[in-house]
Parts: sequence; structure tokens; C-alpha cells
Amino acid sequence: MNKTRFRLLVFFMSLSLIGIILVQLYWVNSSLKNNDEQFKYHIQQVLAKVAERLDNQEADEFYKIYISYKDSTGKTPTRTDLLPLYDNSPDNRSEMVVYSDKITREYDEDDVFFEKNKFDNVVRKKNTAKTNSNKSSNAVEEDEDRRLRFTIESYMKDFREYKSLESWISSEKLRSMLSAELVQSGVTTPFEFGIYNSGMQTKIHSGRLSYDPDNFYEHTVFEDGQGYTKYRLLVSFPEKKAYLVSSILGITSLSLVFTLIIIIAYLSAINQLIKQKNISEIKTDFINNMTHEFKTPIATINLALDAIKNPKIFDDKEKVQRYLQMIREENKRMHAQVENVLQISKLDKKELEINKEQADIHDIIEGAIEHVHLIIESANGTLTRHFNAQRTTALLNDVHFTNVLVNILDNAIKYSPDAPVIDIYTENVKDFILIKISDKGLGMSKVTQKRIFEKFYREHTGDIHNVKGHGLGLAYVKRIIEDHNCHIYVESEKGKGSTFIIKMPLIN
Ligand code: ADP
Repeated sequence: MNKTRFRLLVFFMSLSLIGIILVQLYWVNSSLKNNDEQFKYHIQQVLAKVAERLDNQEADEFYKIYISYKDSTGKTPTRTDLLPLYDNSPDNRSEMVVYSDKITREYDEDDVFFEKNKFDNVVRKKNTAKTNSNKSSNAVEEDEDRRLRFTIESYMKDFREYKSLESWISSEKLRSMLSAELVQSGVTTPFEFGIYNSGMQTKIHSGRLSYDPDNFYEHTVFEDGQGYTKYRLLVSFPEKKAYLVSSILGITSLSLVFTLIIIIAYLSAINQLIKQKNISEIKTDFINNMTHEFKTPIATINLALDAIKNPKIFDDKEKVQRYLQMIREENKRMHAQVENVLQISKLDKKELEINKEQADIHDIIEGAIEHVHLIIESANGTLTRHFNAQRTTALLNDVHFTNVLVNILDNAIKYSPDAPVIDIYTENVKDFILIKISDKGLGMSKVTQKRIFEKFYREHTGDIHNVKGHGLGLAYVKRIIEDHNCHIYVESEKGKGSTFIIKMPLIN
């Protein structure tokens, strides 16, 4: 996959993922809004029902007083008769005649009406009385109706004004009314409530009603025939937000889980893609390197063979020997390369048998130094031993472990542009021996340090590119080290050098 296609793919995948997340957020938000609207609708319906029940109860309470007066005295009560029966009634009756319109007074004096049926009928229909009366065909009847309505209203106004609310309805009763209606509408969250008179809280309220403009629902109660009232029934729901959220919690968490799965799948897909891309790049590099490495010996062998074919040289035994030696050398080099690659793939398939024996680490290090000291000398480099470990016996495979050290030393030489300066330290830490091999060469960036133990990994840029290699040395080192139950770390700084540290368990 080329770079542009890969980038486009990642771009579109990211775009659609962000799109999905945004759509989910939008959906959650609009669900919450819808639920809020529905909640509001339900509460308004509940409040309307409770207000109607309160109106009816008020009428019933009034009727009780009215009928008990009628029963005890045997006569139909007038307003004047009823007023002393209200607990807040003023002493001076003349001062408290508020509704002194002519029609009402006429009725006060006439002692008409108030058969229960009629009273109930009129009170229940008081809000529609006006329209009903329009329909009345008979003018006298209409007049009668209107008078009756005004009278009832004036009686009810007295009752409302002078009979305290708490004497006939308790907070508890209102609570149970609201609670019953709310449950019936499917609203189960706690609520606070109160009846307000001209904006002032009456004694009918719950304990913790406090004003929150976002969380208040109200409905008028005790309206008169003109729809006027000073009373308002208010409810609030302190846990409304949590309640609304909980109603979509199930489906929201499901969508959250699926979104998370998509994100995880997306990230791992991208990760895999990047890995694959890197591997394919590394493989291409490796093939290029290998081809390059084989090209020279093959060309040399070709040249040597051509030379031998030449009759002049063919007869010169010494020259033939030299060319044959060259061919053998080049052949050996190619063989070594192939062997290297094969070993790694054997390691991968776990086919390599590694037998371990007790050995002295310092001896093994000396053996490894033996392999590289000529190269160091020829490069005018130095290698210094700092063998501080007292206990040095470990279980290891001497061939592979020597290879490990040689690979690291080889790199220290390869990646030192000037004369290599190498230091080898050993020390004991608890039951371990630490072997540190440090150089003052090119060093590596943090990103490179993380990847050098990967198969085929080679740093691409700068001077490093000029150094030959296949990126297999340290992969081999890592496998062998792990097989010995050891650990290997690298500390390095670009331009300053690198230190490879092997931590190995000791045996007694
Ligand atoms: P190769 O040396 O064949 O490329 P290795 O597996 O031995 O492969 O090393 C992998 C990479 O680690 C190298 O290409 C190089 O970039 C980096 N590296 C290893 N040792 C050193 C070192 N001592 N100093 C700087 N870079 C190093």
C-alpha cells in the first residue's frame, strides 16, 4: 500500500469514527431533551389533575360548613351567617364586606338556592359557566344562572379568604395526592412541593422546597369564574437530572460499549496496519541489503572465474591458487550470511537447541574479546576491562553467549565513526551479575532504542545508513538472552555513545 493511500485510509477511518462519536453525543443530547419535554408534559398533566382535586375538595369543605349550619339551624345560611364560621373571619362584618355588588347582596337577602346538586354542578362547571350561559335560550334563565354563579363565587371567595388553607388540607395530604398522580404517570423521582399565595409560600409545603428556575413546574389552583387566582401549586424535582439520565442509561451504556469496541478495533487495526507497513519496509530494506551483500562476492567470483579461464593465467599455478582462494573466501562470506539468516529463522521456530553448562562469565567475555581485538587494534581503538564482579558463575551456552557478546562488541565498533573506545564492566547485584558494554560511538535516539531488538530493524538516517548490516544481530542477541533467563537493556544518547547492559542470574 502506498503512502498516500494509507494516509487516506487512516483519514477516512478517523473521520468516520469521530462522526460516529459525534452522532452518538447528539443522539444522547436530543434524547435527554425529549425526555425533559415528556417529563414536563407529564408533570403539567399531574398538576392539572391535582389542582382539580384541590378545587373539588375546597368546594366539599365549604359545603360541609354550609350544610352543618343548615342542619343545625334549619334555615338556609346567608353570607353573614357563614362568615363567623371561618377561623380568620374579622370581627367587624361591615369592614369585611368585600363583594358588595348588587346581585350578591340581593341573593344574601333572598335566602334562595343551595340544594347540593345544584351547588356541586355550578362549582364544577364554574370555569365554563360563561360559555354555557351564552348558549342559554331563555333570557330569564340566563339571568338566574349568572346571579347564582356570582353568589357562589362570592361565598367561595369568603371561604378562601377567611378560612385558612391548612385547616382543611395538610401538607401530607397534598403530598399523597401528588405522589399518587405522579406514580400513575410513571414518575418515580422524589419531589418537593408547595402552595403559594401571591408569591408567598403558604404553610402547605414540603420540607426542602427551594427555588430553581430550571426545575420548577407550576399550576394555578382555586381559580374563580374569571380564571383569576392568587394561588399557585408548585413542584420541583431535586433529582430530576439523574432521573432523566437514568431513563436512557441502559441504551446509552450499550451505545458507549459499542463505541468503545469500535475505538479499540479501530486503534488495533491502525496499529496492525502500521506494523505491517513497517515490516514490509524493513523486509524491502533487508532484501536490498542482502542483494547488495551478495552482489559483491558474486561479481568477485565471476571475475576470478573469468581470469582463471584466461589461458595466460590458467598456466600460472600460483595465480590460479590466488583466484581459487578468493572464490573460497567470497563463498565463505556468502555462506556466513545465509547461515546468519537461517539461524534467526530457526530461533523463530524454536528449533535451535541450546544446552547450558556452568561457566565463568569473565572467561566468556575474554573469549568474545579475542574475536574482536584485532579489528579494534586495526581501527586504533581501545578496549578496557573493569571486572568488578566477585561471583561470576552462571549457567549458559558458551557458543551462543559468546556470539551475543561478539554481536554487541561488533556493533560498538561498527557504530563508532572514529577509533572505537569500548569499556566492559562487570559487577554483582544481589544474585545477579551485570555485564555492561559501553562505547562512545554514534548513539541512538529514544525511538531507535525501543526498536533495535526487532528483527530486520536498522536505523535509516545519517551516518548509520553507511554501515553494513541486516538488522538481525540484536534480534538474535535478544532471543538468546531470553533463553538464558536474562534481561538486556540499552542506555544511549545520540552522538554520545551507547551502553548495553545484560542482567544475568548467578548460580552457586
Ligand atoms: P545491524 O547492525 O546489522 O544493522 P543490529 O541488530 O546489530 O543490526 O542492530 C540494529 C540497529 O541498532 C543498528 O542498525 C543500529 O542502528 C543500532 N545499533 C546497534 N548497536 C549500536 C551501537 N552500539 N551504537 C549505535 N547504534 C547501534
